[in-house]
Amino acid sequence: MSQHSPASPASPAPHAAPASPASPASHVDSSFRPATTVVAAGRPAREPGAAVNPSIVYSSTYVGDETPAPGQLVYSRIGTDAWVPFEEALAALERADQPGLLFGSGMAAITAALDLVGPGAALVVPRHAYHAALVAARVLVERCGVRLRSVDIADTDAVAAATRGEGWDADGGGPAAVVWLETPTNPMLEIADIAAVSRVAHSVGGIVVVDNTFATPLLQRPLELGADVVVHSVTKYLAGHSDVTLGAAVTSDPDLYASLRRRRTFGGAIAGPMDAWLALRGLRTLALRVERAQENALELARRLVDHPAVLAVAHPGLPDHPQHALAGEQMDGYGAILTLCPRGGAAAAARLTGAVRLWLPATSLGGVESMIERRRRWPDEARSVPEELLRVSVGIEHLEDLWADLDQALRVSQER
Ligand SMILES: *Cc1c(COP(=O)(O)O)cnc(C)c1O
Repeated sequence: MSQHSPASPASPAPHAAPASPASPASHVDSSFRPATTVVAAGRPAREPGAAVNPSIVYSSTYVGDETPAPGQLVYSRIGTDAWVPFEEALAALERADQPGLLFGSGMAAITAALDLVGPGAALVVPRHAYHAALVAARVLVERCGVRLRSVDIADTDAVAAATRGEGWDADGGGPAAVVWLETPTNPMLEIADIAAVSRVAHSVGGIVVVDNTFATPLLQRPLELGADVVVHSVTKYLAGHSDVTLGAAVTSDPDLYASLRRRRTFGGAIAGPMDAWLALRGLRTLALRVERAQENALELARRLVDHPAVLAVAHPGLPDHPQHALAGEQMDGYGAILTLCPRGGAAAAARLTGAVRLWLPATSLGGVESMIERRRRWPDEARSVPEELLRVSVGIEHLEDLWADLDQALRVSQER
């Protein structure tokens, strides 16, 4: 797959020029499996004596001439070589026909994608999703009259009705311009049928955006299922070491690519060279990390089901998950996030997060280190998320150490 050829023939303005054509020679063959692509993509050209990793160059601007050639680097906010290797790798993983777009955070990519909703247009969102994405969607309602339709994204009929506008006539928005999916959702782990929702959205002229942070392109490739744009918090699994804050957007559509790129250029939420390099460094082990973490997660979920201190456990890999079958069809694995409700309510959950010694009580996920958090400690979290629900991001430590610590913390959670 050839990445970073100029995206759109209609992008002549120098300030909108695509990233450098002098990109690393791609070692990505479209027949490569994802576990190979994460290792092989985004390498410098193979020449005797050449470095095997991209260099880190700090330069805010580039030597110019009167009329820059298409793709010539002109200024770092518009495009820099630092982003190219990661963008090439991510596009190959998501099977996109355009390069990926690296952003300064997941929220920067998300707000750029939310900007695709025009004033007064209808936007379908999951009732549960990454809380800041929903806050950003509500800002669009206040600022430009966007019609927000909040649905259970696991209920495909409800999503279809909201997309067509059926039963939503009162808001005057008509068919939805954008359907926003997150699957599995954060933190409730609901699964949306990406292919079915994409068919409905396209039948009314809308587009589908999928936040693929939880699944990663190793387990789920929304563009192949018909979605139009994928966004990521690269902060999480893709970088994977809890050491950078980054985001990305990926699409195969040249016009959507140009829009998202414009938003990055003029919004200015860009990645620094060192962070972009660290993201690529982290990506190299994505397949191994995801494989180990989801193996750990499924086994912990199975054990937790029978734990006397546990009221409820959810994980897409458990047979009693409501969308277990759909997850099995749509994904290449069930992921490494689970949720857990201890007996004894929010107080017990808080005692648990206070008692862990190996697990990190912290608000992130997708790192090598296992993390656990009571989501409702945040005022912005949806009220329908149970007070005692713990979001559990399982890392790559030894399963038995994770289990021993969780088991002792669960016991502490039941003490009063
Ligand atoms: C963390 C997260 C985000 C936000 O990403 P940042 O890099 O923190 O800006 C968006 N979506 C999901 C699903 C997340 O978990």
